[in-house]
Amino acid sequence: MKNYIPQKASSIEELIKDCPKNQVILDNLIRAWAIINSPKYKKILCSISGGSDSDIMLDIVWRCDKDNKVDYVWFDTGLEYQATKDHLEYLERKYDIKFIRKKAIKPIPIACKEHGKPFISKNVSEFIQRLQRHNFQWEDESFDVLIKKYPKCQSALEWWCNTKGENSQFNIKNKKWLKEFMIKNPPVFKISNKCCTYAKKKVANKILKENKYDLNIIGVRKSEGGARATAYKNCFDDTDGDYDNYRPIFWYRDQDKIDYENTYGIIHSNCYTEYGLKRTGCVGCPYGRNFEDELEVVKQYEPKLYKAVCNIFKDSYEYTRQYKEFIENMKG
Ligand code: SF4
Repeated sequence: MKNYIPQKASSIEELIKDCPKNQVILDNLIRAWAIINSPKYKKILCSISGGSDSDIMLDIVWRCDKDNKVDYVWFDTGLEYQATKDHLEYLERKYDIKFIRKKAIKPIPIACKEHGKPFISKNVSEFIQRLQRHNFQWEDESFDVLIKKYPKCQSALEWWCNTKGENSQFNIKNKKWLKEFMIKNPPVFKISNKCCTYAKKKVANKILKENKYDLNIIGVRKSEGGARATAYKNCFDDTDGDYDNYRPIFWYRDQDKIDYENTYGIIHSNCYTEYGLKRTGCVGCPYGRNFEDELEVVKQYEPKLYKAVCNIFKDSYEYTRQYKEFIENMKG
C-alpha cells in the first residue's frame, strides 16, 4: 500500500480526482461534499471510534471539510484497547487534528452495578430490564393473562409473547430458544442496556446540545446489520430537532471499504492488524457475537483489561455461555 499523504480538497473536482472506479465511493464522496459544505451547517460534530469504519469515515469527512467546520470527538468508555488509544494518536498526527475526548457520565462498572449488565443485544437487554423492573416471574402465559398481572409493562410483554407481527425484531423468538431458556433459567442478576446510555448516548447528546452543533456525523453502515444499522433507513435524517444526522459510509459494503482503503492508504489500528480482531469498541462487550474469541485476544495482548472485563461482565458471560449450551442441547 502506498504511503498516502491525505490532502484536503478545495473543490469537488479535486475531491474526486483520485476516486477509484467504484460508484458507491464516488456517489458518497459527492454527497459528503454537498452536505459538509452546505451553508446550512455552521458547526459539525463527527464521532470517531478508532475502528475500521470510523477510519474511512474520518478520511472522507476530513477531505471534504474545506472550511474546518468539523470537530471530532471520541467517547472514552473506560474499556478501551491500548491499541485504539495509540491509533487515535496516529490519526491526530496524520490529519493534524485533535480529538475531543469525552469520558462516560457513569463509568461502565458503576452503570453495570447500579442498573444491570448488558446481555446478547441492546434490544434484548432493554426488554429484560423492563420485565425485571416489574418483578416478572418468567411465566409462559399468554399476553392477555400477563398484562393483567403486570399492567405497566406492555411493550416488554409484547416482546416476551411474540405479538409484534411475524418478522419483527421486537419479538423474543428472534433469538432462538431464548424464551425457553429464560423460563428454565431465569436470570439471577440485573440485566440492562444502560452502560451504553451512560458511556455513549448521553455523552453524545450532551456535547451536541451544549455546543449547539447543527450536524452530527457517525460511522454506521447498513450492511453491518444489528439494531444500530437497522434503526436507520438512509444515510441522512433532516430532523426537526436541534441537529441533523449524517452517516457518510452508510451505503458502503465490505468491498467498497477495501477499495477505499487501497486507494487512499487507510491504515487501521493494531486491534485489526496485530490482534486479528474483526471489530473493536468496548473491550469484551457481552453484545459481541464472538466475545469468547475476543477474550482470548484480550488475555494475550491486554491482560490488565482482561481481568477487569472478566470481573465487570462475569454474570453476563456466564449466562450467555449457559444460553449457548442450551441452544446446542436443543439442536442435538
Ligand atoms: S458497547 Fe457494550 S460495554 Fe460498551 S457501553 Fe455499550 S453495552 Fe457497555
